[in-house]
Amino acid sequence: MQTAYKFRLYPTKEQEQKLLWTLNKCRYVYNFLLDELNNQRVIDKAQLQEMITDLKRIEPDLKNVHSKVLQYENYRLFSNLRGLAQTKKKGRKVGSLRFKGKNWFKTFTYNQSGFAIMQNQTRYDKLWLSKIAEIPFIMHRDIEGKIKQIMIKHYPSGKWYASILAETKEEIKPTQNTNKVGIDLGTMNYAYDSDGHHFDNPKHLDKSLKKLRKEQQKLSKKKKGSQNRAKQRIQVARIHEKIANQRDDFLHKLSRYYINNYGYIAVEDLQVSNMVRHPYLAKSISDASWSRFIQMLCFKAERAGCTVVKVEPRGTTQKCSNCGSEEVHKELWNRLHKCECGLELDRDYNSAMNILKRALGQELSESTPVEIVPLLSNEQARSEKQEAPCDSWE
Ligand SMILES: [Zn+2]
Repeated sequence: MQTAYKFRLYPTKEQEQKLLWTLNKCRYVYNFLLDELNNQRVIDKAQLQEMITDLKRIEPDLKNVHSKVLQYENYRLFSNLRGLAQTKKKGRKVGSLRFKGKNWFKTFTYNQSGFAIMQNQTRYDKLWLSKIAEIPFIMHRDIEGKIKQIMIKHYPSGKWYASILAETKEEIKPTQNTNKVGIDLGTMNYAYDSDGHHFDNPKHLDKSLKKLRKEQQKLSKKKKGSQNRAKQRIQVARIHEKIANQRDDFLHKLSRYYINNYGYIAVEDLQVSNMVRHPYLAKSISDASWSRFIQMLCFKAERAGCTVVKVEPRGTTQKCSNCGSEEVHKELWNRLHKCECGLELDRDYNSAMNILKRALGQELSESTPVEIVPLLSNEQARSEKQEAPCDSWE
């Protein structure tokens, strides 16, 4: 089982220069390899790998970057190519890979070697990165298992983070918890479940969103290319990061709540296409966070031995969860479900019960289990367990 951790780094001025320098060298190597590939000079992964060795002879500077870190750029290039091919297969129009400019290259990665963690008794622990430095950080959480990979990331606000991927061998037994729940995700209540509990977006998140709007307006008024504009841009980036942190914190707590209390959880199978069909809802920031919530839920469920079932959401709002009548019509602003059978309750509560019923019915009619995609499979460290969980502002 793989777990991702995320820690803020506190490099000194001098260390930061080294980090930036390394970032730039990695970008250079990535672009160089891409160029080789584009010109069809070399198209084989192993051959490209060798090119890095040749390149080091011409540019001895590169020897000041840990060799595995440079090799990773080759891996990254090919994984980007694979991603592109998959998108193409789905019938979407795609271009080709582009050279990465300074602002589009934010990470470099140590794979398997070149790093160590030194825990101190003082305030700061240290992360040793080969050819860079021992960088202070606070290890607020113990890392379980063997560290496989460390990704160093530079955020637009100027902060540095390390995403650490570790692997343990433990096997997971299914949970003994037999409680079942359906969850409806909405805009009025963030989540409403089939046991009647509901949760709203936290107030401080709303406050930050208001602040973001204000700071963005300020940004638009600053003169292009001016120093003040650059400063304001950092200010906006900081708030973006703060919002992502606050939102993720809320979603982590919410998903944790469901995993701790239920062994079986039914949710809607949200697809982007649904949201496009409802432009009114798409306005809300909830959209992205709903799928993120489900991601977190699946991720935690896998570790806890819980089951998450996704159901087709169509009709769960209009249907009566008591008598099964398919068309108890209500408009978007109509908060009440009121059926001829006598059932009268919050519309989201009704939806949540429909979602649970649909999941259970689906289980009876299908023998194939619903696929649960682990969060770490597509890109390492997309989500992190950490003090202020985040990582969605890529
Ligand atoms: Zn009814």
